[in-house]
Amino acid sequence: MTLSLLERDARAIAGVEKLRFFPLEVVSGQGSILVDPAGRELIDLSATWTATGLGHGHPAVVEAVSRAVRSAPGAGGLSAIHPDSVGLAEDLLAIVPSDPGTERRVYLGHAGSDANDVVLRACRHASGRSTVVAFEHGYHGGLGLAMGVSGQQIEAGHDGDPDLVLVPYPNPFRPGPGGVEADVAASLTAIRAALASDRVACLIVEPILSDGGLVVPPDGILRAVHEACRAAGVPLVVDEVKVGLARTGTLHAFQHDGIAPDIVTFGKALGAGLPLSAAVGPAAILDHPAGSALLTTAGNPVSTAAGRAVLRTIAEEGLVERSAQAGDRFSAGLRRLAAGGGVEGGLSAERIGDVRGRGLTIGLELVRDRDGLEPDGDLARRVVYRAWQLGAVVYYVGGNVLEITPPLVITDDEIDRAVDILDRAIADAIAGRVSDEEVQDYAGW
Ligand code: PMP
Repeated sequence: MTLSLLERDARAIAGVEKLRFFPLEVVSGQGSILVDPAGRELIDLSATWTATGLGHGHPAVVEAVSRAVRSAPGAGGLSAIHPDSVGLAEDLLAIVPSDPGTERRVYLGHAGSDANDVVLRACRHASGRSTVVAFEHGYHGGLGLAMGVSGQQIEAGHDGDPDLVLVPYPNPFRPGPGGVEADVAASLTAIRAALASDRVACLIVEPILSDGGLVVPPDGILRAVHEACRAAGVPLVVDEVKVGLARTGTLHAFQHDGIAPDIVTFGKALGAGLPLSAAVGPAAILDHPAGSALLTTAGNPVSTAAGRAVLRTIAEEGLVERSAQAGDRFSAGLRRLAAGGGVEGGLSAERIGDVRGRGLTIGLELVRDRDGLEPDGDLARRVVYRAWQLGAVVYYVGGNVLEITPPLVITDDEIDRAVDILDRAIADAIAGRVSDEEVQDYAGW
């Protein structure tokens, strides 16, 4: 009996590392296109999941990785000094702004999770303080301390770190009874109260709350958080793992607020799909001997060669500007749907509560109806499944928000096709053309 790839996956790969929304099988990819074993092409609208800002099979990455893998892939990072590891660290120091006079270092790791874990631990060791301040519904990783300070994970039933203070993240689409301004004020009051203790090691924040529902915070909030941290002498850690490196139409997402955070973490797009993450921050924290984090293959020449190619290509191909333009086109297409311009008399509009985002980081919030705006997670589950059937890979976050984050190289034609597929998928899901049996095994989160 010959088993399909799907059946072999079910038997071989551990459940703890699976988060499946539909049975996506991939054997190759190019640019924004993924190809399944039957040769079917799908538009990838989920580059923050496939971890490829530049798109699949980008020649600059292929060339850099091929060269590195043929040289001495095991010699680097932990045990030896390699030009690509040192070079990537220098490249990051050159593009991450900081206060003049701060001596900085770069930690190179494998995933967003270990970069955040190491940073949080280093902040504790360097300060001798143990409290971490983080945000409700936040996500910083799937292991260790990064997981322990992730509101999302704690809300899902995982153990939180015992010395964590969670503060609210204002959500302009779903404000409390006093409105957005009152929410901002309440959040800042909670932050200042938490920072008033003399036990705080650091505050960690996502510039856009991503896995928690693609919440774009009100303008200026990051600046206010930064000022509060400054006043309290507490380092601010900005987690750019998901939305950094050109995805929001600026090189760094925190630049929308015009700040230079004390520590910045990177992952996903940095490695073009290879395991690679980084943290850039003060030497006084990242050199601290008690914070030692020795991972044998961290900073290896293959991953770091990919990282250097990614940073070079973002600059050479003008991908920051492209992200802004492509994001405008994509958002305009989705707003046309929300205004009733889609198929079947604009059917999808009934259930699109909001379209929001920055650059190629776009959230489309699905609701039960446009008056009550009650989140519709069941619809989201059906829509992403249907979109996969129709030829687009897209996931949802926060229960009911489609997270649209295509590769930065997506073409105008692909954007227009993707908007049509999403329109059709929403209409089909509303009209009951996706069966319960098909979707039931794919609950996502
Ligand atoms: N930080 C943020 C903001 C993330 O979105 C994620 C992953 N979704 C992580 C950290 C963890 O990254 P990784 O999965 O690469 O460990």
